[in-house]
Amino acid sequence: MRIDIISAVPELLGSFFGHSILKRAIVANLVEVNLINLRDYASGKQKQIDDYAFGGGAGMVLMIEPIAACLSDLKSKNNYDEIIYMSPDGELLDQKLCNTLSLKKNLIILCGHYKGIDERIRQHLVTREISIGNYVLSGGELPAAVLSDAVIRLLPGVLNDETSAISDSFQDNLLAPPVYTRPAKYGEWEVPEILLSGHLKNIEKWRHDQSVQRTQERRPDLLK
Ligand code: SAH
Repeated sequence: MRIDIISAVPELLGSFFGHSILKRAIVANLVEVNLINLRDYASGKQKQIDDYAFGGGAGMVLMIEPIAACLSDLKSKNNYDEIIYMSPDGELLDQKLCNTLSLKKNLIILCGHYKGIDERIRQHLVTREISIGNYVLSGGELPAAVLSDAVIRLLPGVLNDETSAISDSFQDNLLAPPVYTRPAKYGEWEVPEILLSGHLKNIEKWRHDQSVQRTQERRPDLLK
């Protein structure tokens, strides 16, 4: 999979992809992530990428030309399955959407900034708009990182244990069961005995029961 992230502040994203699971995925060539600086596509000496909103009002808007130039450059080199704009009024991101996107080959993620991007980009060039939640951030970089992380960890080989992503919350509409590690006894707090029993079948059943119970308690809406 290839993910090209277009941003006015790509520096915000560098360290995010430079560590832990995401770094390993990139080093192992399971995914290629390119951080593209929108300013590289700005013309003129000023390298301007934003301007005042027509009609007045506070806040700058990312201009159409640099974004269109960037998209057309990328599209001349690769075929993209989706050109995604991160936006608070987009389709709400959930596990199902992450699963769907993890099957794609090439994605562009466009990050807005300030007041957002010129509406004509959304109308004519973007194929999908995704929100990470009902709140507003100052830029699309964190949302792009959230989306990329959620998708990349689903790619085969990224997590050590192949079944690991499958047993996470929201897969099968169930929340994950509780997990424990050593020591088995911390003061008076003990790990459920069954997990120490070595009896895989019983452990599997216990985990499933815990998942169902947890989902009933915390997110009954998922069971409907
Ligand atoms: N004026 C816009 C918000 C702009 S926030 C509005 O009210 O809808 C600046 C940028 O941050 C947006 O262009 C978008 O790319 C990103 N952003 C902010 N909140 C987001 C969210 N919840 N989900 C996805 N992207 C978001």
